[in-house]
Amino acid sequence: MKEQLALLVKLQTLDLKRQKDKDLLKDFPEKISIAEKPLADARSEIEAARAQLEQLSQVRKESELALQMIEEKIVKLKLRLTELKTNKEYHAHLQEIAAARKSKSETEDRLLNAMEGMDQLKTEIAEKQAKLAEDEAAFSSVKKEMQDEMDQVASEAAAVEAEWEATSEKISKSLLSSYQRLFKSCKGLAVVPVNGQTCTGCHFSLPPQLIAEVKMQSKVLTCGYCHRILYIKPTEV
Ligand SMILES: [Zn+2]
Repeated sequence: MKEQLALLVKLQTLDLKRQKDKDLLKDFPEKISIAEKPLADARSEIEAARAQLEQLSQVRKESELALQMIEEKIVKLKLRLTELKTNKEYHAHLQEIAAARKSKSETEDRLLNAMEGMDQLKTEIAEKQAKLAEDEAAFSSVKKEMQDEMDQVASEAAAVEAEWEATSEKISKSLLSSYQRLFKSCKGLAVVPVNGQTCTGCHFSLPPQLIAEVKMQSKVLTCGYCHRILYIKPTEV
């Protein structure tokens, strides 16, 4: 029985390691995607800036075209000035020219604004792209590290698995199944050492008779309060 208990303690250590490895492996993909999130954000910011640039470029083209038409209109209006007969016609015509000039100046402002906006966006995009390239390089080394770590954990997990199999084979079926039930219900602490008079699972004091029996290591004994399997550390036997 002494050997069986020792095997159970070993199995529990392996089970805890197994659980830890499993959690680590489960968390890796999320860790990677969290690390990658700022890159995805930066990429969509660049996309948005490009779309804005495209819009402004459209405004620029339209304004240039409009400006050209207004300028042609002003030239024509000026040419017709000499053909006008009455004062009234002349004044009306001057007003039309003034309106065309106002519209020209507004269109010029719009064109200028678009061009300034485009320059700004181009600078912004270039800066963001440079920063993104840096961040991508940094991320790729972080990702590589994470993947190496994940491979390491996976290979350790495989070794633990093999050791678990080999150890569990040596434990009697009924003891193994009560251990496994306890391991689940006691959240990973199924076999606990006795410390002095106390169960280290629930910290209640145990009857002296029970402690004496545990020390004999001749059968499987459990704590009356938390039902965990009790053992004595080799140094305390
Ligand atoms: Zn207990």
